[in-house]
Amino acid sequence: MSDYDVIVIGSGAGGGTLVRRLAPSGKRILLLERGDWLPREPANWDAGPVFVDNRYVSEDTWYDADGKPFQPQIHYCVGGATKLYGAALYRLRAEDFGELLHYDGVSPAWPIRYEDMEPYYTLAEQLYQVHGARGEDPTEPRASAPYPFPAVRHEPRIQQLSDDLEAAGLHPFHAPCGVMLDEANMPFGRCVRCATCDGFPCLVHAKSDAEVLAVRPALEHPNVTLLTNAEAVRLETSRAGNEVTGVVVERDGRRETFHGDIVVVSCGAANSARLLLASGGGDAHPHGLANGSGQVGRNYMFHNSQAVLALSREENPTVFQKTLGLNDFYFSGGDVDYPLGNIQMVGKSQAQMYRGEKPIQTRLAPERTLDEVARHAVDFWLSTEDLPRAENRVTLRADGRISLAYNATNDRPKKRLYHELKSMLGHLGMHPDHLLPRHAYLKNEIPVAGVAHQAGTCRFGTDPATSVLDPDCRAHDVDNLYVVDTSFFPSIGAVNPALTAMANALRVGEHIAGRIGAQVGQWEAAHAA
Ligand SMILES: Cc1cc2nc3c(=O)[nH]c(=O)nc-3n(C[C@H](O)[C@H](O)[C@H](O)COP(=O)(O)OP(=O)(O)OC[C@H]3O[C@@H](n4cnc5c(N)ncnc54)[C@H](O)[C@@H]3O)c2cc1C
Ligand code: SF4
Repeated sequence: MSDYDVIVIGSGAGGGTLVRRLAPSGKRILLLERGDWLPREPANWDAGPVFVDNRYVSEDTWYDADGKPFQPQIHYCVGGATKLYGAALYRLRAEDFGELLHYDGVSPAWPIRYEDMEPYYTLAEQLYQVHGARGEDPTEPRASAPYPFPAVRHEPRIQQLSDDLEAAGLHPFHAPCGVMLDEANMPFGRCVRCATCDGFPCLVHAKSDAEVLAVRPALEHPNVTLLTNAEAVRLETSRAGNEVTGVVVERDGRRETFHGDIVVVSCGAANSARLLLASGGGDAHPHGLANGSGQVGRNYMFHNSQAVLALSREENPTVFQKTLGLNDFYFSGGDVDYPLGNIQMVGKSQAQMYRGEKPIQTRLAPERTLDEVARHAVDFWLSTEDLPRAENRVTLRADGRISLAYNATNDRPKKRLYHELKSMLGHLGMHPDHLLPRHAYLKNEIPVAGVAHQAGTCRFGTDPATSVLDPDCRAHDVDNLYVVDTSFFPSIGAVNPALTAMANALRVGEHIAGRIGAQVGQWEAAHAA
């Protein structure tokens, strides 16, 4: 008999949520996490350590296509990237599940429809306590329930921005936010609505991240075991190669092997590809585990994004800025009929984050001090969909480290989206000529710019020749192997990916529960402590 019914590798948006789903079943579940608990300390909310010193970024080294090393902006800890995420919890648009024509080509269809995912989006919004307002965003897909919590209120400068956008004929909306904020009863709410949310861990555990809302509640069930500092380095298979028989883990400098009836990989898109490529071998899997299609590691996507800084004529004293979104250019824009993408706010930049060098200051803001820039800054995040390309891929170097080859797609829509925003600035109470990349100002860009939205290395599909996973996210080639992080995305859309990973983990969790005879059909059961 195996040691565990289910082994889940990686405790982030995908893996953490899946374990939360299966926990009430009473089945023996092992959660392996290569990182530790993220420390709770005053530095959580200090821009210096978090932004400038990269205190919570892993020391991992990856290599680009030319073999040049770089430090990926990646977080190895319980809860994964959700510990630092901005908690903007969007559904993909219904159209994102179908084929969409973009400037640079086709964004492929998913093997399931939006309607298949919808119930799980609703469950994920409940589990992750999402605040929002239905009916404001014309691109919003149909939802079977209201948001579980009311939208987070705009602060006055952002409300003004919203009013000005509406006056310009656009449809700004309250962004869906995963924060445990109770604006009607602040003394009893957990979230204090601070300025250090997007890109920072939450010191008071009020952000809806996978550690707080998935892993910790799951651990209240005695049948769930978490091992931290436990890196899965290889999956062993049966002689025929159609079953994973062991998960080899490095912990405290030692190797040990765990056995589970079902094994779920959820290490983040690049690391899941790495684990599969490092496994397999022999006749059954000569090019890595579950890689009969040759697709493992391919189709890497992470959005063609830009963080930009505009200058408000009036001061912008906003504390929590990430409350507004704009999807008027999601499917087309201005005089073009191809998709441009999503515009949203990003965490407010602070003077402490800026580079103090005189030449930069003089060039960027000749008539202002950097303190003034910070007081007037309005920070936007622009996401354009990048398309899956076989040559954008993760491969393994001889030393086992990740090599990442990536060339952007949809650069023209990206520029066009920037242009659309810039052309409106004069009507939005901002200086019309000033829309600069935030990295021009910042000592270190908020780490969303790196690999934060990585996806697509093990895409799901119906055809084993062109996809790694079947529509249940089970490997075509290996009966008891699943992948539930953002690797499964066949396309990434232009909204943030985490809610889709969470919803899908709930969907796959239901399938796995059925397979192992677990009674977690009712979400009420999954919610029971
Ligand atoms: C700064 C920042 C801001 C972001 N903002 C947003 C946002 O506002 N909205 C949004 O939707 N998304 C946002 N994202 C992206 C979002 O966090 C990710 O899309 C999401 O967390 C991906 O989930 P995942 O399960 O694929 O990977 P992760 O959540 O990263 O989880 C992977 C886990 O696997 C572990 N792991 C890796 N390798 C191994 C191994 N070999 N053995 C054991 N464990 C392993 C990792 O330590 C990690 O805990 C942001 C990300 C960052 C970094
Ligand atoms: S805004 Fe709320 S959830 Fe975000 S870090 Fe501050 S207290 Fe935490």
